[in-house]
Amino acid sequence: MVERYDVIVAGGGPAGLAAAKAAADEGGKVLLLELQAQIGGQTQSAAWAPRDAIAAELRESVVAEVREARLHSPHRQLTVRGDFGAIVDRRLFDKLLAAEAAASGAELWVSCPVKELLVSDGAVRGVHVEAGAWAERIEGEVVIDATGARGEWSSLLLRKVLGRDWNREQLVLSNEYMMANAAADQAVDLFFTSYFAPLGHAWVYPFGRRFAMAGIRGIRIHPDAALDEFIGRRTLPRLERAVPVAAHRGQLPIEGALDPTYASGIIAAGGAAGQIYVLSGEGLRYALRCGELAGKVAVDAVTEGDVSKGALGEYERRWRAEFGAELRAGKLLHSALGVSQDQKMDAMLELLEAEPRLQSAFMNVFTGVELGGALKVLLASEEAKRVFLSETTSRVLELFK
Ligand SMILES: Cc1cc2nc3c(=O)[nH]c(=O)nc-3n(C[C@H](O)[C@H](O)[C@H](O)COP(=O)(O)OP(=O)(O)OC[C@H]3O[C@@H](n4cnc5c(N)ncnc54)[C@H](O)[C@@H]3O)c2cc1C
Repeated sequence: MVERYDVIVAGGGPAGLAAAKAAADEGGKVLLLELQAQIGGQTQSAAWAPRDAIAAELRESVVAEVREARLHSPHRQLTVRGDFGAIVDRRLFDKLLAAEAAASGAELWVSCPVKELLVSDGAVRGVHVEAGAWAERIEGEVVIDATGARGEWSSLLLRKVLGRDWNREQLVLSNEYMMANAAADQAVDLFFTSYFAPLGHAWVYPFGRRFAMAGIRGIRIHPDAALDEFIGRRTLPRLERAVPVAAHRGQLPIEGALDPTYASGIIAAGGAAGQIYVLSGEGLRYALRCGELAGKVAVDAVTEGDVSKGALGEYERRWRAEFGAELRAGKLLHSALGVSQDQKMDAMLELLEAEPRLQSAFMNVFTGVELGGALKVLLASEEAKRVFLSETTSRVLELFK
């Protein structure tokens, strides 16, 4: 049986669900295919998100408000207070997004892995899905690759069209445990240490009353061993009597966004496009907005009767105008911290302790919120410039001129 849609979305994470909703809102006939048996199933179960990523209809997925962050470098510790967004339960967050997409008219199929893209005359024209003995060809005008960057099935545009793969040296590996029986503590703990998390960090987030999320990300680590060692070696009072009850392994590319993020008949959004703020590994906000842009551009192109590479390039122009500078800045700052990470984070925490007015600017720079303004405040300090290296500082500030 051959089905035909205006837009086929591969992957039901935040990027895919936002794309499906936007495309359906624009009047497109939309099908979303998710490989897992449920939306929000195997995705990591918590995410720290800025306020603007949590629309009113998604609020019930909030499990903790972040008003306090404890920053730990090898030799220093500092508590910072402010409004730093919220922790959402991704299992519910993603299902609420699915409800929004369905309300707009998108069809959602679960347990439907996209195995191959249908390609003819150099253009993507649909997908091949296969699960067990069941297989189907589904034709579509535009395929939106929202498969994330986390496993062998993901990153369809990159692997199947551009014929490349993520550079393994530029993949941050991570693991996160949901810890049951954690002591009540509403603060976020962030640990910057090259011993446990080279070129990354470790964290403990609150998750409701009795749970916490403990995670780690770094380059060239074994994420399970690194997380076990981190939890075993650091005596964290909130985790003293806690046990892991779920694990979520993942990987994030830090080489920067794909260039290009589109080809004839296909657009990539979110993790699949490498749209990650590399400094902190945050990606939810970009996945939501880039998914939305992808859905809109796809339906505009279908309506105009031109889904060629030239027409879909509008997507790349729009997302780069909104986020290009942010994503490039995150990558530059991350690379600058890579040399002597421990000394630099010690120096940064010493500076923040001495200059409390820089504390919220640092938090915003770390999480990528209101980045241009936060960078101007933080990098006005000579000490901060030294931490991030003067050359990086000038290049980063140049991006926001
Ligand atoms: C451990 C970890 C912690 C993180 N913490 C945060 C955080 O606190 N805050 C934050 O903002 N970001 C965080 N991120 C990043 C964030 O998770 C991603 O940026 C975001 O999930 C990207 O959304 P997405 O929709 O592009 O991809 P994903 O959320 O990865 O969704 C992709 C979906 O596609 C499905 N899929 C994959 N292949 C196929 C296929 N072939 N066919 C059909 N379906 C397919 C997958 O099952 C999945 O449901 C974290 C990442 C990791 C790994």
